[in-house]
Amino acid sequence: MATQTQRTEPWSGHAAFGRNFIGGRWVPGEGPHTRLIRNPADTTECVAEVREASAAQIEEGCEAAARAFTVWRAVPATERVRVLFRYRQLLEDRFDDLATLVVKENGKLLSEARGSVRRGIDVVEFACGIPSLLMGKTLPEISRDVDSYVVREPVGVAVGIPPFNFPAMIPLWMMPLAVACGNSFVLKPSEKSPLTGAMLASFLAESGLPPGVVTVIHGGRETAESLIANRHVRAVSFVGSSAVAESVYRTASAAGKRVQALGGAKNHLVVMPDADLARSMPALIGSTYGCAGQRCLAGSVIVAVGDRARQDEVVNRFVDSARSLKLGDGMDPAAELCPVQSHEHHDRVIGWIERGVAEGARLALDGRHTAVPSLPRGAFLGASVFDDVAPEMAIAREEIFGPVVVMLRARDLDEAIALANRSAYGNSASIFTQSGAAVKTFRSRIQCGMIGVNLGVPAPMAFFSFGGWKQSLFGDLHAHGPDAIEFYTRKKVVTERWFGAEAPKEGWV
Ligand code: NAD
Repeated sequence: MATQTQRTEPWSGHAAFGRNFIGGRWVPGEGPHTRLIRNPADTTECVAEVREASAAQIEEGCEAAARAFTVWRAVPATERVRVLFRYRQLLEDRFDDLATLVVKENGKLLSEARGSVRRGIDVVEFACGIPSLLMGKTLPEISRDVDSYVVREPVGVAVGIPPFNFPAMIPLWMMPLAVACGNSFVLKPSEKSPLTGAMLASFLAESGLPPGVVTVIHGGRETAESLIANRHVRAVSFVGSSAVAESVYRTASAAGKRVQALGGAKNHLVVMPDADLARSMPALIGSTYGCAGQRCLAGSVIVAVGDRARQDEVVNRFVDSARSLKLGDGMDPAAELCPVQSHEHHDRVIGWIERGVAEGARLALDGRHTAVPSLPRGAFLGASVFDDVAPEMAIAREEIFGPVVVMLRARDLDEAIALANRSAYGNSASIFTQSGAAVKTFRSRIQCGMIGVNLGVPAPMAFFSFGGWKQSLFGDLHAHGPDAIEFYTRKKVVTERWFGAEAPKEGWV
């Protein structure tokens, strides 16, 4: 669908976040590309205009971050934590503004946007424990007069490159923990939803950081590549599609940088014959169509397990529930399914549906023509379901990242696990059952990093780490939780000898 280029005034108050934040100052970009950020529910509404940073500004931002690091790394963790407490309070105070901006630039339902901001604040709360989290281990008297202990030091300048789909939560997986550990942090928000990340950075700076500890550089692929290559940058946290994640991982690690690169997903939801379908259905629908399927934890393949009659029951009840979802603007409290992020993304998802039809799958529910009459320029797509899908079809293997669900059928749990494990991805998988034995088998044999039992979005809380297996993660350390402390610090083991008293005599205490 072609996008109308009618312009409206940038959404009041947020134009500043289209600027870059370099050395503690908001400066207009001087790079070659300018992007209009449009509201996905009504693409005639321009939320803001963002001009990307120039090569000189990227260098200036990284230099400022490197200078700031020398100051910030020396600030005791007990003082750094006060900044984080102030940050947490600012995020609470501005919670509604943040959630509304997520809706405006990303399209989510307001309830989903609020949930994502809350998940991000959870990470800030985890980071508020930084003095305890940074404690090393000690073993005194490993030999006569010799003690050994571990100290953790920050890595230096860390860069964060998030995807478009969680403009608040994913920068918050990275930024607070990087800074809590004593690093400086350069955020390059997704060029498709760049404003919320910039707003989050402004609140962090406002919480009492020295200039340059947090930096925002706007831009797309080339900007990300320049940041990764920059000589000041020591660590890269990336979240996005698998092809890009793999390339970021290879480039950054070849340059001797620390890198964690989280990739795409194709998550399977296994519905066992004994699952309580009525009570599981909201979780199945929420997992697959929440955020219009644009979530790395979205269920995108449902595996109906059992005899033919039970498989049909799962498919039919799921299709009936999906059909009733009300499409609408994220700000409309009655809406249950939000738009996808842009017309471009809309057309890509339509391409996947056409491909599924061409492959011979049966389109049991076709969302291609579902519209919202009051919002003719929105990037809306109704819920779609494919049945009679062969596991080798591309729609069963590749990430679609939209409101399109593939139904697979299996006779038993073994077959269902085998179907899920064929996937090149390994982000998450869920099982719906009332059997503890089935859960134990599933847990031990499924090849992925996050597992759900009778729930569809098994997102680890902030104090656990978040990440997948196979093509869903390049690198060893997952996001947030204890892995983030490992990622954003380097360890030194000190072995020291202090000549003490003479060797103890018998009976000495
Ligand atoms: P994307 O890979 O297109 O872009 C992600 C980021 O990478 C953006 O900031 C973009 O500017 C940057 N980028 C693009 N090309 C680059 C390159 N060659 N080198 C360096 N950086 C580059 O992803 P997207 O479309 O924004 O997001 C959707 C994808 O993200 C989906 O595949 C989804 O599964 C994945 N995702 C994964 C997780 C996870 O935790 N595993 C979470 C959210 C989203």
